[in-house]
Amino acid sequence: MAHVKLHIPGPVEVSARTFHAFCRPMIGHRGQGFKDLYAQVQPGLQSLLSTRQLVYLSTSSAWGVMEGAVRNLVHRRVLNCMCGAFSDKWLDVSRRCGKEADPLQVAWGSPIRPEQVDAALATGRYDALTLIHNETSCGVMSPLAEIAALKAKYPDVTFIVDAVSSMTAVPIGFDALGIDVLLAGTQKAFALPPGLTVFTASPAALAKAAKAGDRGYYFDLVEFEKNARENMTPSTPSISHVYALADKLEEFKAEGLEARYARHARTNDMLRAWATGHGFTLFPEPGYESRTLVCVNNGARPGGRTIDVARFQKLVKDAGVLIDGGYGKLKGLTFRVSNMGDETEGTIGALIGILDAALARL
Ligand SMILES: *Cc1c(COP(=O)(O)O)cnc(C)c1O
Repeated sequence: MAHVKLHIPGPVEVSARTFHAFCRPMIGHRGQGFKDLYAQVQPGLQSLLSTRQLVYLSTSSAWGVMEGAVRNLVHRRVLNCMCGAFSDKWLDVSRRCGKEADPLQVAWGSPIRPEQVDAALATGRYDALTLIHNETSCGVMSPLAEIAALKAKYPDVTFIVDAVSSMTAVPIGFDALGIDVLLAGTQKAFALPPGLTVFTASPAALAKAAKAGDRGYYFDLVEFEKNARENMTPSTPSISHVYALADKLEEFKAEGLEARYARHARTNDMLRAWATGHGFTLFPEPGYESRTLVCVNNGARPGGRTIDVARFQKLVKDAGVLIDGGYGKLKGLTFRVSNMGDETEGTIGALIGILDAALARL
């Protein structure tokens, strides 16, 4: 069957080089070979996150760590900052974990604003908050640095941040932000196969987790830290993913992180220009558009052109590329195209040729 190239906002296309690295022969996860491999990825991950903390590897999708962070770090009540499908879901997940949880809900398409977070935290009700940096479902990037600055005012509130679809595409400095947990699944902007999550935690978060009686085992932060000190994971990891990650970090290093961020900005600009050049508007509130995808407005809000998204998506697919036809309640009312991972001006240029041809045939 012919492969349809992924331009959905995750999972994204995985290169032949990465699959080659993924397929290296298996080793034992308690042996020196694995410890060396684990130690090998640490400097690359620490420089990616600008942190001196150990970076952990979880064999799970992002939700495993998102749920685990809640179980470890919500002891009183959590504020779930919500602006789209993934961030909304975190409220549900918190409650399913038996936690007291409140929504800070804004309309899909709007970012979370620091003033809103400040007002909610000022009530003194919360000992933790969850925030999604890049809300992939509607292509909105919230102002992480401005929100993280509130940590200085509320030092006892644990800031748990999902950077699933932004980590590696825009700079996110964990130590400078002063937040407590930062996580990303690797099937988005890392362009690895699904199944691995990279995350780190502050010393304060680790100390707090140690006091949680019901934090379970698989996502126990204390276990992750203890094992990371020995260059290991708590349980048997997907070692293939770690091989692929090590190779990917070499690619990041060769390209240079600044160049990588600049490349994502340029390819994202190309997609924005394609959309607006064809009479569409973008779904996010201006100024808060994602850098790793475009979420094109197609009738979800007034203004701009609308098309038959299902038909457009089908024409694009017939040409060998999968784009997204809108997430959840935005299905058909938006469509999304990703520039995450290995995409270059060349590949995005080719994609735009396909989008143009499909649009012309509608
Ligand atoms: C994809 C995504 C998730 C969920 O990731 P899984 O790997 O399916 O667990 C969470 N948050 C954001 C922002 C995402 O884009």
